[in-house]
Amino acid sequence: MPRPRYSIFSLARNALAYHQNWTEAWRSPAPKPHYKVIIVGAGGHGLSTAYYLAKEHGITDVAVLDKGWLGGGNVARNTTIVRSDYLFGESIALYDKSLSMWHDLSRELNFNTMFSPRGIVKLIHNRDGQREAERRFNALRLAGVDSEMLTPLQVKRLAPMVDISPGAAHPVLGATLQRRGGIARHDAVAWGYARAADALGVDMIQHCEVTGFRIEGGRVKGVETVQGFIGADAVALVPAGHVGVLAAKAGFRLPIESVTMQAMVSEPVKPCLDTVVMSPIPFSLSQSDKGEFVFGMSTEPYNSYSQRGTLPHIEEISANAVSVLPGLSRLRMLRKWGGVLDVSRDVSPIMGRTPVEGMYVNCGWGTGGFKSIPGSGWAFSHMIAQDRPHDLMLPFGLDRFAAGALIDEHAASGSFEAFK
Ligand SMILES: Cc1cc2nc3c(=O)[nH]c(=O)nc-3n(C[C@H](O)[C@H](O)[C@H](O)COP(=O)(O)OP(=O)(O)OC[C@H]3O[C@@H](n4cnc5c(N)ncnc54)[C@H](O)[C@@H]3O)c2cc1C
Repeated sequence: MPRPRYSIFSLARNALAYHQNWTEAWRSPAPKPHYKVIIVGAGGHGLSTAYYLAKEHGITDVAVLDKGWLGGGNVARNTTIVRSDYLFGESIALYDKSLSMWHDLSRELNFNTMFSPRGIVKLIHNRDGQREAERRFNALRLAGVDSEMLTPLQVKRLAPMVDISPGAAHPVLGATLQRRGGIARHDAVAWGYARAADALGVDMIQHCEVTGFRIEGGRVKGVETVQGFIGADAVALVPAGHVGVLAAKAGFRLPIESVTMQAMVSEPVKPCLDTVVMSPIPFSLSQSDKGEFVFGMSTEPYNSYSQRGTLPHIEEISANAVSVLPGLSRLRMLRKWGGVLDVSRDVSPIMGRTPVEGMYVNCGWGTGGFKSIPGSGWAFSHMIAQDRPHDLMLPFGLDRFAAGALIDEHAASGSFEAFK
């Protein structure tokens, strides 16, 4: 694994030289005519899949293609919440594998992902919420995964800014807590996987949009791109919100809808919240290491490929957050952005084979796609290398929509206005 060769003097020298002598963290090769595996999408899932293909399965003849720049998609647009407190056993197993991997990821990649397991506090505001929380708490404990029920006073001790007075607009009846959950630096995750995959021989090819597929006798032979045709034995589709577009080009449909989700950050202030607070009313909140408050939101209530959000949503989320944490009311917002989520009908991922032989898909992560990056890439690389699903991803195949074996994680995954 290459180690950075920077000292304080080399940093200053490179800054003055406009970084001309800077060692690139990964190469920028021209595409080869043929690869064993082509991965479409250099987001978190594409890059982690490439890394584990090389590291765990010895498959290094791999290219990761992206239409834009590496890490320019949702992987660097999210609110970085990492947790595994889902409801159904299948989801808990997959997300908890991922959460365990997060705890060791910086060492694994030799790259500081700034993972901070500061705990996830999910507030309860009414009796329905209480029942949902207790059911989830019991499911997690039965699966051997950490979860705690908190009283309002315990919430106050962990997050003093939360208003627990009975007269509050959204009274706090308690919360669940997952102490192992937390946040990380999102683009560091993309860069860490990219650098580690590059060191193992994987080609990262940016500005290489996939525009179509060559399919002969029902089997994929390669991809058409803006840089020409590139042959492949296997093609993995991991383009998040654009997966429906690519599936259509390959001749099949996915039960996926694309919706915009937005987030915003405030000006930096002194540290005053050292846990993640989530509420179903909805909003999510954490304070970054820079001091900015990071606000997460629900999805826009219509399909879109836009990476911008709307003003009403910003107003709604600000009002929701202030009603529970009134101390935020004078905070000034710095910036906001959007990302295109791929959401399945049961808001669980779709991982596995497609109707085209040699073509695999990994999509539908919705709001759960950052936290799942290590576990998803690890399990999906097994599928590609061995042409059979890993046990962890077996329940998440496309066939579950025909069989009706849905894994409905609406309650645990966050708020999806478009799908209520
Ligand atoms: C505002 C917001 C907040 C979120 N908060 C959280 C959170 O707190 N926790 C959590 O777990 N998840 C969260 N998510 C969800 C998570 O970010 C996504 O589910 C996840 O990042 C998607 O996987 P990815 O990283 O591989 O996608 P992306 O980073 O979007 O990667 C897909 C890549 O495919 C490329 N691509 C698309 N079409 C083509 C093509 N034709 N040819 C070549 N390349 C193509 C794109 O350019 C892109 O780089 C959030 C998302 C958003 C938008």
